[in-house]
Amino acid sequence: MMNYDCLIVGSGHGGVQAAVSLRQHGFAGSIGLISDDRDLPYERPPLSKDYLSGAKPFERILIRPPEFWASRNIDLLLGNEVARLEAKDKKVLCANGTAFGYGHLIWAAGGRPRKMTCAGHELRGIHSVRNRGDVDRIMDELASVRRVVVIGGGYIGLEAAAVLTKLGKTVVVMEALDRVLARVAAEPLSRFYENEHREHGVDVRLETGIESFVGRDGRLTGVRLMNGESLTADMAIVGIGILPCVEPLITAGAVGTNGVDIDDYCRTNLTDVYAIGDCARIVSGHGLRIESVQNASDQAMAVAKTLCGEPVPYNAVPWFWSNQYDLRLQTIGLSNGYDQAIVRGDPGARKFSVVYLREGVVIALDCVNAVKDYVEGRVLVERCARIAPNILADNGITLKSMVNR
Ligand code: FAD
Repeated sequence: MMNYDCLIVGSGHGGVQAAVSLRQHGFAGSIGLISDDRDLPYERPPLSKDYLSGAKPFERILIRPPEFWASRNIDLLLGNEVARLEAKDKKVLCANGTAFGYGHLIWAAGGRPRKMTCAGHELRGIHSVRNRGDVDRIMDELASVRRVVVIGGGYIGLEAAAVLTKLGKTVVVMEALDRVLARVAAEPLSRFYENEHREHGVDVRLETGIESFVGRDGRLTGVRLMNGESLTADMAIVGIGILPCVEPLITAGAVGTNGVDIDDYCRTNLTDVYAIGDCARIVSGHGLRIESVQNASDQAMAVAKTLCGEPVPYNAVPWFWSNQYDLRLQTIGLSNGYDQAIVRGDPGARKFSVVYLREGVVIALDCVNAVKDYVEGRVLVERCARIAPNILADNGITLKSMVNR
């Protein structure tokens, strides 16, 4: 059995950053980076953007060049799915029978896409967008596809809809709630994106569910909606969220109901077992499980520092981005629990921000093509600034000048 001083499970943004940061902070022990994926570590955000559109080939979305890993003495253990954790013996067992021992374990296994379960869900032509293989399968079929149904009006579904529309496909977006992005943004942002997609020719349908998928010879030909309507479709893309990959941890005794619970130092309740990124829910502070590159990377850096003897609690201000058409959305902070959403700038001019307040305190901003607001708004969020709504709404006053009000 191979033993590693630090074994990392998952070669996504969190796992890779953990390995890189350990070396940057002088970790001299052995590092193994396990993944069930067989590809060299790659960035996930382009999968629904430039990789899907064909603008970036796979080589350009690699997180590090191929020669990097050996040069940093990091063992890439690709094609190994960890199926069991034996926490007392400090080892993991893979589905292919291989076992690896560890001194410290960093669990960065992310999540897998939630699947549809209605009739017809197993038909060919129904896809998720989580890893390279998913997107390659979509791209392989695209030449013979005219009509696409996107299920889920979250970021991934909307980004895919934007790319596919630009590629000339006829796209329908189906959202079960009464507006897109309802779980993450306020109504003005949702309505803005609904309008944008409609103007680009996307048929955005709200409060609509799929009753079943319909097919012929094992291949999707359409969908039947809850309201009885039928639509033809050659492809469906399902973007309805992820389920955190934590079963081996939970079976081994880790605590968690939505992913695995971690403390401020990203420690699980199992000895020498840390968890980071999409699969981990931080118990203190906001108490959320966050799905973003920033969160995975910053938690990875915090764990690396801890393992190198400079423990630092993780408390970074979250940020996120989404690209759709020529719109760049940048988010700073977390809007959960907001009680006021102030629009700043002009959505009609396709350049504006939504500022979120909770009990008078600025907690987050969504900035559309408004980089200045994003940069300056960060300080307001960091300082928990209290600014009157009428001042925030005045686009003639810079956010920077509000800092010391
Ligand atoms: P992941 O990157 O998912 O990595 C998990 C790794 O663990 C994978 O390599 C997986 O194969 C492996 N694994 C899982 N289970 C096992 C196992 N049992 N054994 C071995 N290996 C295992 N975030 C943004 O901030 N901005 C964006 O614009 C954005 N766009 C996105 C677009 C798409 C299409 C997707 C899918 C995500 C996007 N995200 C975006 C989210 C972001 O990519 C994730 O938050 C981030 O990748 C989380 O990193 P992670 O390391 O926690 O998990």
